[in-house]
Amino acid sequence: MPDGTVEYGVGIHGEPARERIPSSDLPTLVDRMVDELVTDMVLPDGAVVLVNGLGGVGQLELVHIADAVAHTLSGRGISVRSMVAGAYCTALDMRGVSLTVVAADPAWLDFWFAGHDTALPRPTEFSGSGQRPTVAGAARDTGGPSAWLVSLAQEGEDRRERFNALDQAAGDGDFGDNLMAGLSGAVALSAAGNDLGADIGALATAYLDEVGGSSGPLLGLIFGALAGRTRDAEPGDLPAALLDGFADALHAVHRAGGAERGDRTMIDALAGLIDHAAQRDQRLMDEPGVRAAITGAEATRDMTARRGRAAYVGERVLGHPDAGAVAVAWLMVELWAALESRDAAVLREDLDRLLE
Ligand code: ADP
Ligand code: MG
Repeated sequence: MPDGTVEYGVGIHGEPARERIPSSDLPTLVDRMVDELVTDMVLPDGAVVLVNGLGGVGQLELVHIADAVAHTLSGRGISVRSMVAGAYCTALDMRGVSLTVVAADPAWLDFWFAGHDTALPRPTEFSGSGQRPTVAGAARDTGGPSAWLVSLAQEGEDRRERFNALDQAAGDGDFGDNLMAGLSGAVALSAAGNDLGADIGALATAYLDEVGGSSGPLLGLIFGALAGRTRDAEPGDLPAALLDGFADALHAVHRAGGAERGDRTMIDALAGLIDHAAQRDQRLMDEPGVRAAITGAEATRDMTARRGRAAYVGERVLGHPDAGAVAVAWLMVELWAALESRDAAVLREDLDRLLE
């Protein structure tokens, strides 16, 4: 077969296909397959879908194909009742996939879901919505979401790729995704109303419950410490509560992860704020303190790591600041901006220089 072509409409044993078509990206190909399958179908009760690998396609790819199938079906207003993806009917190690769409019928659907004693997985109700969560669209029935969290998530989304790029220099490139998962999760948990303490509580829950990586639990600890101090604080007491919360967070992250100042982690941004405040005997989170956190994050450019994944790449990280430290400094900038719009734009600019 010439490069850039695929056999389309192929028989199960690898015989020549009905036609040979130019290859395209996955959504386009899947859309075409689904289109041909459902054109003449009547699907009042939705569809049951089998994504079948022919032997040479990995499970990860099959799941990716299943995702594309769910998207195109839901885009056509067809509900997916159940979907399985796996190598069920194979032709040696043939690199290909077949798609089966069946009209779900209440008369037999229970049998499809019934337990069995074979090695095959038991089909379940399809839970994927076919729609990726959006930042603003996810609020519960609380009059929400919180306007501050929505704008925080938007600011985060604008920086997601740059955070991923920083983590690429030192780790596995997912830091921006992890950061965003918590922000979108918090939006979904949040309620309307101008309650910074509650919003911080939602961030703590989202990072602890929903976000993986090293950063999920660590950011969960940080927001948990902040929530402990800000939950019942009067608006006027928030600058003091935030500084106390970040001091607690510094202890908590140190205790959990064992990193010290200078190890190229989030600790360097936290300590930037806390040490600077201690030197000045300052009891409030203020603009110079936030600036010191940015300086602390910036200093990680010249550090090699002893903790986290970055420890494995040695001197190659030099010149790039630590993603987690920059994120913590950024969150301080945003918290500062929530209290006090003064200087926030200038601080954001300084911070964004670390993301270039
Ligand atoms: P993973 O390495 O699991 O992909 P993330 O990319 O989510 O984790 O987060 C990486 C960030 O986590 C680093 O940039 C660093 O700031 C922070 N980190 C990793 N280990 C520690 C630790 N022991 N203490 C403090 N922060 C840490
Ligand atoms: Mg990572």
